[in-house]
Amino acid sequence: MTPKSSDTTIYLTEQEADRIRKTATEHLKKCSDLAGHAREPRDAKAAISQATGAALMADMGTMTLAHPQPITPPLLIVSQPYPPSLIPISELRPIKISELQLSTHHRGRQLAVKRMSPVVTLSTRSWTMVQDDAGEIERLEIALHSTGPGGRDMLESARSFVLKEPYFTLTPDGEPTLRIDHPSDLLTITAPTNKAPASDPANTQLTTTVSPPVKAKSVNATSVGGRTEVRETATMGRGLFVVGQVVKRGEVVMGEKAFCAVSGVGKTAVTWDGRDGRVRVAAVGLERAVVKKLLGNPGEIGQVMGLFGDWEGAGERVVEAGDGPVVDVFRVQDIVARNAFGMGEGGSAGLWIRAAYINHSCVPNAERELVGDLMIVRATRDIAVGEQIFHSYDQSADYEARQKVLITTWGFECGCALCVVEKGDEPAVRETRRELAKEADEFVRVARWPAGRLAIVKGRRLAKKIQETYGEERYRGLPRLATRGIQAWLAKAAASS
Ligand SMILES: [Zn+2]
Repeated sequence: MTPKSSDTTIYLTEQEADRIRKTATEHLKKCSDLAGHAREPRDAKAAISQATGAALMADMGTMTLAHPQPITPPLLIVSQPYPPSLIPISELRPIKISELQLSTHHRGRQLAVKRMSPVVTLSTRSWTMVQDDAGEIERLEIALHSTGPGGRDMLESARSFVLKEPYFTLTPDGEPTLRIDHPSDLLTITAPTNKAPASDPANTQLTTTVSPPVKAKSVNATSVGGRTEVRETATMGRGLFVVGQVVKRGEVVMGEKAFCAVSGVGKTAVTWDGRDGRVRVAAVGLERAVVKKLLGNPGEIGQVMGLFGDWEGAGERVVEAGDGPVVDVFRVQDIVARNAFGMGEGGSAGLWIRAAYINHSCVPNAERELVGDLMIVRATRDIAVGEQIFHSYDQSADYEARQKVLITTWGFECGCALCVVEKGDEPAVRETRRELAKEADEFVRVARWPAGRLAIVKGRRLAKKIQETYGEERYRGLPRLATRGIQAWLAKAAASS
């Protein structure tokens, strides 16, 4: 996602990306080497003092830094998605900390623990030390989605927890930890107030973080989508089509408020995905906001989970599993990656559910604009009834640059009419075109205003040279993207002289 290509490219050099890949693959190898190994007991006193010290450091960091937002986005390893627990707590058998095995999901089991130390709150995770009934101590971490209702850290919000089908693994630093990815896998136990003492187990209450009643599925009431319909396509999954009557050039095809949008800096993280080995900048702020909104509005889980995402996970059918709403955060992560749009600088991004069905073409028939978090999609030429609506996810004039963004961010290679022809060009021709386009960009950038006669002559000559790299016959009816910048400049110069 984040179609503003600046968002996806500014942070990382190839060297940095390589270093991240190396760190991540080493971590995964270590995890898999240790899979099934017995857990080493921890020294309770040392563990608690470690957490207390770390919590103090984290708090001091927040207080003393002039810029509390991280300057470099944190690294997340997102290679091994797994589904949330779908079994009600009453059907899970208890397990003790001493029975835990490394790099293992303890399916069919549940672990009851008490928090024994302050909570260490970091930008993408929080952790603490917990103890089971047998007095054994272990580290417990919540990854990314650690904020519960009211913006409070879930670990802070209670002292007693039950972990459903606990996952015991390693932190990227190699420290063993119980790890929660899906908020619904962590149940908090709160003692009711004004009743019998909390120590009486019969009076404790088991709750998930958020569990309002499941409402009826709501359908995008805010969108003006009456002229469109979602349909299956032959090669692109589902797409959005014009129905009813032709949409004239310049008319609004649809308008839609964001399902969820976040703005501001510090909302991204660098992720390494073991499934394709790619390093990306992900909109984790938006992922967090979507998960939180869905947990609070389970009636909307289906429509978001119905969007395309690589990880199928629990799928769109699962809304709850006995103990409250269930949201598969790995599916949200993949859905956000493939469907969200950047809204400018610093990781601001939003998810528009209906607009998410609009496929990409380098020769689009529509363009989008944002008014706040309202997305307006407007026809750039007449679109006939039954025709698919396309907009451009990436507007690079250069074929290679465009394909790289499309494959990295959206996971597909474009096969539109323009790409087919451009792909057929000799690599040397594309190289010449790329060089000329660079020259033209530089010319436009430094040109003084108002444009002199000589500059206009030079501009025309450059435009012609770029134009000549496009075969007349083969490019008939197709845009010559590399001439766009210089043509716009020439038009402006002509109008002002
Ligand atoms: Zn294309």
